[in-house]
Amino acid sequence: MIIDMHSHIGCIMNFKMPKENLIESMNKYGIDFSICSNCESAAFDHTGKTLPYTEQKTQEETYAESISFARNNPGKIAVMPWVKPHYEKVTPKLVAMIKENLDITVGIKIHPVHSFINFNSPQVEEYIKLAESFNLPILTHTGNSSESCCASVYEMAQKYPKVNFVMGHMGLGTDNTEAIEMIKKQKNLYGDTAWVPIESAVLAIKECGDDKIMFGTDNTIDGVDTLGTNPKGERSLYQQYFNELKELITPEEYEKLMYKNALKFFKLEKLIKKSPQ
Ligand SMILES: [Zn+2]
Repeated sequence: MIIDMHSHIGCIMNFKMPKENLIESMNKYGIDFSICSNCESAAFDHTGKTLPYTEQKTQEETYAESISFARNNPGKIAVMPWVKPHYEKVTPKLVAMIKENLDITVGIKIHPVHSFINFNSPQVEEYIKLAESFNLPILTHTGNSSESCCASVYEMAQKYPKVNFVMGHMGLGTDNTEAIEMIKKQKNLYGDTAWVPIESAVLAIKECGDDKIMFGTDNTIDGVDTLGTNPKGERSLYQQYFNELKELITPEEYEKLMYKNALKFFKLEKLIKKSPQ
């Protein structure tokens, strides 16, 4: 079994990730279950420039689309609302939607770059408190920008010990060592493998223990073949996860990374059992 705990749907800017692509890719590459968030919640482009307001959808609108996608694919998809702490706030409607859809909502997604906001800002804290009130984890993009730096996530993990935080990418664009050190030190801090070289994944498992790292990919950011061969004709690093990595860690560590940790962390057992197959 393989669970991908970091995938996306939605079409905005250069992101072209129609919902059907995710299902097609999962079928093609043997992914049994994916947790997705809707990138149409992006409010700023890659350079920190705001997107025209007319092009933006609200966090409730993008979440509603994710929910219908999950409802149409029982046993295959769970969701995280991708929230918009820069322009929006925790609304009664968002709270009601989470409450009504808690069976398929397994976390809250924050993207400090596309919200152009520091992860340790008071606006983000409101969403951390929301996650705490529902006992949901937070998945946040981490990278080398000041908004998405690992240090801010570490700070919030210390401040909110009851909330579990996943550092998506374990510091994209870095050598991952800072993120690994922090995940090792802080009990409620976890990491995913999206665009993480397998050498770093091996190091993270050795350093942080085999319970703290989960398989995630950003599928289908490079199209249906994100997990195979990218549009430039290059073999995706995820092929190494499917093949070479098995030789570098124990079978137990491999199973935990590829699905067992996510199954437990996101409490997916019931959801996967609902599958008609
Ligand atoms: Zn992502």
